[in-house]
Amino acid sequence: MRILHDQPAELYSTFRLKTRLATVIEVRNLTDLQQLDTSSVPLVLGEGSNTIFLEDQSRPIVRFTGASITESWMDAARCLLHVEAGLNWHQLVTVTVVKQLWGIENLALIPGSVGAAPVQNIGAYGVELADICAYVDYFHWQTKTIQRFNPDECNFGYRDSVFKHQLAGKGIIVAVGIILSKASKPVLSYYGLDKLPETSSIRDIYQQVIVTRSSKLPDYRELANCGSFFKNPVISNAEFLQLNEKYPGVPGFKLTNGQVKIPAAWLIDQQGFKGYSNNDIGCYPKQPLVLVNYGNGQTEDLLSLVALIQNKVNQAYQIVLEPEVRLLDSNGQQYV
Ligand SMILES: Cc1cc2nc3c(=O)[nH]c(=O)nc-3n(C[C@H](O)[C@H](O)[C@H](O)COP(=O)(O)OP(=O)(O)OC[C@H]3O[C@@H](n4cnc5c(N)ncnc54)[C@H](O)[C@@H]3O)c2cc1C
Repeated sequence: MRILHDQPAELYSTFRLKTRLATVIEVRNLTDLQQLDTSSVPLVLGEGSNTIFLEDQSRPIVRFTGASITESWMDAARCLLHVEAGLNWHQLVTVTVVKQLWGIENLALIPGSVGAAPVQNIGAYGVELADICAYVDYFHWQTKTIQRFNPDECNFGYRDSVFKHQLAGKGIIVAVGIILSKASKPVLSYYGLDKLPETSSIRDIYQQVIVTRSSKLPDYRELANCGSFFKNPVISNAEFLQLNEKYPGVPGFKLTNGQVKIPAAWLIDQQGFKGYSNNDIGCYPKQPLVLVNYGNGQTEDLLSLVALIQNKVNQAYQIVLEPEVRLLDSNGQQYV
């Protein structure tokens, strides 16, 4: 176990606001976790690509750093990988591509750790974690034991799971089981991959995802950001028809439950935010759904830009945009 004091948040959040973190505790295994003092409930952090520390953080922060992969074959065609939570997600995807194991190649280049992947059920290009998840191993602060959750118990939804709700603050994910396939299973329906032939190799798809993502999204190592800042709002079909009457051409994707998902990027773009900045915080010129920190961004600038975007979109479409990113106050509570 490693305990670090008074750390710059810039090292622990890809948005890199210049706030401070009182204590960061790195745990590697079950022994470390069982020795951890959890009398004041710690905040769990992976690589901080979906987390912004708005204020200096007083709550202790715990990161799980174990990063091994254990492979076992279920039958001739399917392989189970038991992956520790501290592994970088993109590194895992790269390993599976090298091993020619199909299932997560569409999720290449998503920043962050394996442990965070089930929390918001990461997804991209028509694939989400729920599609390949066999189980999630979760250490409870209170009982100091690991419980295995099967996919049904994880309650996966759009950028959602039980770990954001009933289990929030109760413990930490230590490993994720994923099932991958030896047989070719390309998912090419999504825009960006739809020009690839059905015979594409796993490497072709992986590379196309990397090229497409890199052309649209800023690299957080060069320009600080946390990816999509707001969730895509979901409205009823009746609301969508009304909206479409007023704004013909508004894009909407019908969900299996009959509701309609509207791209938040479109709503924000229509309000003229592409490339807009508020001091050093702005909307990325190629993709206004991504808020960026040009270097010296301040919390007030971020919060006033968020409020401005929410108000404009709400006034125009009567839709409330909710942040997808975790915005934390000094006690580790969600800000908005
Ligand atoms: C440029 C960019 C592009 C992105 N594109 C996508 C995308 O296409 N699709 C997508 O879904 N997301 C995307 N994201 C968001 C981000 O990559 C994911 O949310 C990722 O899973 C966050 O991982 P992290 O380790 O950085 O999480 P953190 O920001 O550290 O934490 C996020 C949440 O997970 C929890 N958590 C982290 N580790 C654990 C653990 N071990 N146990 C329990 N809880 C834990 C935290 O408490 C927090 O609630 C993007 C982000 C960026 C910067």
